[in-house]
Amino acid sequence: MRATAAVVGSGPNGLGAAVVLARAGLEVVVHEAAPTPGGAARSAPLLGPGTVVDLGAAVHPFGAASPLLRALDLGRHGLEWLHPPVVAAHPLDDGPAGLLHRSLARTAEELGPDGRAWTALHRGVAERWEDVAETALGPLLRRPRHPAALASFGLRAPWPAAATARALFRTERARGLFAGSAAHAVLPPGHVLTSAFGTLFGAAAHTTGWPVARGGSQAVADALVAELAAHGGRVVTDSPVTDLRQVRPADVVLLDLAPRQVLALGGLDLPPRYRRALARWRHGPGAHKVDLLLDGPVPWRDPRVGRAGTVHLGGTLAEIGAAAAQVRAGRLPERPFVLVAQQGVADPSRAPAGRHVLWAYAHVPHGCADPAAGERVLGQLERFAPGVRDRVLARVDTPPARLEEWNPNLVGGDVGGGALDGLQQVFRPAVQADPYATGVPGVWLCSSSTPPGGGVHAMAGAHAAARALRELARR
Ligand SMILES: Cc1cc2nc3c(=O)[nH]c(=O)nc-3n(C[C@H](O)[C@H](O)[C@H](O)COP(=O)(O)OP(=O)(O)OC[C@H]3O[C@@H](n4cnc5c(N)ncnc54)[C@H](O)[C@@H]3O)c2cc1C
Repeated sequence: MRATAAVVGSGPNGLGAAVVLARAGLEVVVHEAAPTPGGAARSAPLLGPGTVVDLGAAVHPFGAASPLLRALDLGRHGLEWLHPPVVAAHPLDDGPAGLLHRSLARTAEELGPDGRAWTALHRGVAERWEDVAETALGPLLRRPRHPAALASFGLRAPWPAAATARALFRTERARGLFAGSAAHAVLPPGHVLTSAFGTLFGAAAHTTGWPVARGGSQAVADALVAELAAHGGRVVTDSPVTDLRQVRPADVVLLDLAPRQVLALGGLDLPPRYRRALARWRHGPGAHKVDLLLDGPVPWRDPRVGRAGTVHLGGTLAEIGAAAAQVRAGRLPERPFVLVAQQGVADPSRAPAGRHVLWAYAHVPHGCADPAAGERVLGQLERFAPGVRDRVLARVDTPPARLEEWNPNLVGGDVGGGALDGLQQVFRPAVQADPYATGVPGVWLCSSSTPPGGGVHAMAGAHAAARALRELARR
């Protein structure tokens, strides 16, 4: 008889786990509470007919670099990565924006006096990119298969991004560009190890890129669902699991859930030590999302920003640091750090002709319910693109509470499955050798609250599924 597996939650990690298990010959059923699969990688016509809005993830540096997604060759199921002409832009109040290109040489050249330092910081990591991606997208605690990949980060990896930026770069342009990349970790640039994040995102730009998925991020989820189906698995939607006994006849169970949801599950007798660790789990800041339909392209003051897939609205390094400090102190900054995606630059299918969909979210305090948050996002846009407000045809705000309502894993609007600081950087979600083990035989955690953390890479799912298969083989 075939062994059976149940996966709870169909985010990228749940689907990644399901695919790995199904390809190994297990009979797999994924239970998803929502009416559509994909978790925080779903898209919908939120801004009216003909629009495609990414409801969660928009840009896919992790997707393009993911060893699992690459190995699955999801192009067979319609997934196509589309690269914008410029990877990312970091506009400033004065002078030209910093631009991140696929080409390291071009990026360096445009950074003028900081070009050499930019190259020195990123080249080693970019040259060993495949090994770096495999190492970074796995549990940090295992013995590294590619020690040279880790070494390529150099001695500065543990440094705060702010310290690296100040030590290496002279211009605000290069400092801001680096701090903007590091800010994807949703940590202040003064925090240890944020240099590693900045370098990782920069090197990703210079190698596999930061693409969008043709037709919306939903295409990533749909391709995984198709691959699952090709191996006999299926997703049951509108199927919330509140008690493990609903799925327990399965030989293995993988939970694509945040610690809070795991604790709320009935019929799951967790060891007290693990239960305490989950109860102590800390979530990071929230996201306040704003989606806009515009009647024309964004009137960026530096028109080159209009060719970038991703735009960081944070200003100088000092300003990014100050905003992050306020968020950590529970205050909504006057000028929050805003991540913008202009998917239409690479993928014209996102809006009807002549219209533009703009995706943005600000880093705000955990659970922030301040009604001013949306206007602050607009304020940051208007600051670097004067007149953008006049272009707005439709606007939808999604504050942290609404994000969590939509997907209960997004606790307090945390997009990363838990803060990435302190011990949680390495030990996710508990201090133990196997991050995916729940202590209950046959039950594994596979969400972004396990390594490698947030992002649409499906690698937490892949690693947890590999553990489950090994245990099954032993049994
Ligand atoms: C606004 C936003 C922007 C983001 N931007 C990016 C980006 O640009 N690039 C990037 O790489 N990442 C981005 N992310 C992060 C990325 O989307 C997540 O890290 C990733 O989706 C996590 O995958 P997951 O499988 O762990 O969980 P999720 O994607 O959160 O999926 C969990 C699933 O479990 C389901 N579920 C929960 N409880 C139950 C239950 N009891 N029973 C059944 N089902 C249940 C949920 O409905 C959900 O479908 C963003 C996230 C958000 C919210």
